[in-house]
Amino acid sequence: MPKKPMRPCRHPGCPRLTENGVYCEEHRKLYERESAGKRGYDNKWRAARTRFLRHHPLCAECMRQGKLTPATVVDHIVPHRRDARLFWDETNWQPLCKSCHDRKTGRGE
Ligand SMILES: [Zn+2]
Ligand SMILES: [Zn+2]
Repeated sequence: MPKKPMRPCRHPGCPRLTENGVYCEEHRKLYERESAGKRGYDNKWRAARTRFLRHHPLCAECMRQGKLTPATVVDHIVPHRRDARLFWDETNWQPLCKSCHDRKTGRGE
C-alpha cells in the first residue's frame, strides 16, 4: 500500500501521476513561472502608472469641472477587459483622483 494516493496532474491532458495531487514536477515549474510572470507584469504596470501620474498629476475629471485635484489612479478610458493592446495604450489612459475613479467604476459614494 502506498503512503499517499497518487493523483493525476491537474494540467489538462497530462497523464503523469503526482504524489501531492496538484501538478507533476514539470508542470509545477510551469505554473510557478506563470505566477512569477504575473508579478513582473504588476511591477511593469506600477512603474508605468507612476511615470504617467508624474506627467499628468491632476485628475482629468475634476479638471473638467474646474477643480484641481491630485490624481492617484490611472484609469482606462475604454475598459481594457484584459486586452493587452488597450491596457498598455497610453492614449487610453487618464489620470483620476480616487473619488472620480470610484464614481466611474460604480464603487463607493
Ligand atoms: Zn503534468
Ligand atoms: Zn477627480
